[in-house]
Amino acid sequence: MSGSPTKRDGVLEAWGRVSRPAAEVLGEDIEAITEGSPLSRGLGRSYGDSALPARIGGSVSTTTLADRLIAFDPESGELHAEAGLSLREIFRIFLPRNFYVASTPGTSFVTLGGMVAADVHGKSHHSAGTIGRHVLGLKMRLADESIVWCTPQERSELFWATVGGMGLTGHILEVRMRLERLPSPWIWSRSERVPNLKVLIAKLHETAKTWPMSVAWIDTTSTGDKLGRGILDVGRWAEPGEAPSEPPRQKPRITMPDIFPRWLINPVTIRMFNFLWYWKHWQPRREGVVHPEAFFYPLDMLARWNRAYGRGGTFTQYQCVLPMGNDEAPVEFLKLLQSLGGDSFLTVVKDCGPEGQGTLSFPREGISLATDLRLGPKTQGIVDALNAFVIAEGGRIYLAKDMLTRPADYAAMDPRVEQFMNVRRRFDPELRLRSAQSVRLFGDPPEVS
Ligand SMILES: Cc1cc2nc3c(=O)[nH]c(=O)nc-3n(C[C@H](O)[C@H](O)[C@H](O)COP(=O)(O)OP(=O)(O)OC[C@H]3O[C@@H](n4cnc5c(N)ncnc54)[C@H](O)[C@@H]3O)c2cc1C
Repeated sequence: MSGSPTKRDGVLEAWGRVSRPAAEVLGEDIEAITEGSPLSRGLGRSYGDSALPARIGGSVSTTTLADRLIAFDPESGELHAEAGLSLREIFRIFLPRNFYVASTPGTSFVTLGGMVAADVHGKSHHSAGTIGRHVLGLKMRLADESIVWCTPQERSELFWATVGGMGLTGHILEVRMRLERLPSPWIWSRSERVPNLKVLIAKLHETAKTWPMSVAWIDTTSTGDKLGRGILDVGRWAEPGEAPSEPPRQKPRITMPDIFPRWLINPVTIRMFNFLWYWKHWQPRREGVVHPEAFFYPLDMLARWNRAYGRGGTFTQYQCVLPMGNDEAPVEFLKLLQSLGGDSFLTVVKDCGPEGQGTLSFPREGISLATDLRLGPKTQGIVDALNAFVIAEGGRIYLAKDMLTRPADYAAMDPRVEQFMNVRRRFDPELRLRSAQSVRLFGDPPEVS
């Protein structure tokens, strides 16, 4: 451990490029940088305001320099590391050793702390659940500055409120978790064009029985009997006989320049993109071994792809889960999105398995839809209307993506908020730990009194 924390005044950005002036505290000593701090932040890959300070100019502890790997047991797959360790490093170090996380989000540019705080899920949700299911223990700094360990057995209420608690129950300093042992570090994948959303949902349910991983991209501009046509990717870890003998190398990345005008993303270009992306998959079906980065993180190949929204362009991602039992609901959701003018070139559909134990964890059994939306004068109205639909369907939205949901709507879609707030208040009666999101959604005061 070296050096004392550095304080940097500047502007912090979320992935959707909304920003807020902030005082960022950085350093290798995670206990030192989190002392007296109201919020931790990882690699800033949450789309909305969850990793932005509660007030303009407020302080945030960025954990990315506190990334030590403390221990690994190859017998059990147990990893012990500091919260700032990135998933990209875990990929680099552990994949060649045939170990990886059982649940990964669609980018490797996340920290362990950020993954636990959002209780991330991925293509394997129906088979492996969220990351919280694989976490064995968390070392935390609480609001009263004490440092404690919590596990699913010990201080379990604190543990489960922290898994998916968006940094509001304490700073995660260290994580102990189990990595999955793999037959090989390569993926066997099948990818197919699907004519519409109805067929896609049926295929997601069907493939979930035999494939541990699945995800689909859909064309949100197609209509009629092509409504929601898309590409379905399913996969599993390849068996040694199927995989190349060399482990996969991390791919080089190119960086998107910040030169595009904002008008470049408009209904016409979005429609064109959707058409081309669908037909890029010119073979109806293909199957074989693929690189795990291409399977899990296709967007990571293009660093700073969020600049595609143009200079000064901001965006959000609306992600909801619609409960199992009504396969018409995703179709109705898409029709509503289209009627509201919510053009999007990136819309992802996933099959979610049973709900995890995280008090505010997002996934529940059903279909998750995530759609990128440019921020503009119409966006708040679109989000309000989509939220009304989701509430009526008994679904909920994902906090790691959200920045426009109104508090009453969030409370209506998630009765677990009361339990979460009770645990929060027990460990932090003055609600000292807070974010821009907790001020907006949970009514936290922006200033500590
Ligand atoms: C391209 C892309 C694809 C994505 N795909 C998925 C997906 O498939 N599934 C999914 O679940 N998510 C997905 N996400 C969202 C992402 O996984 C989460 O937002 C994750 O929390 C980001 O991690 P981070 O380290 O960047 O955290 P940040 O964005 O910096 O912070 C996110 C939250 O975690 C809290 N936090 C961070 N570190 C700590 C800590 N040490 N202690 C306590 N709290 C902390 C912050 O306060 C904040 O509330 C995606 C994001 C992007 C940009």
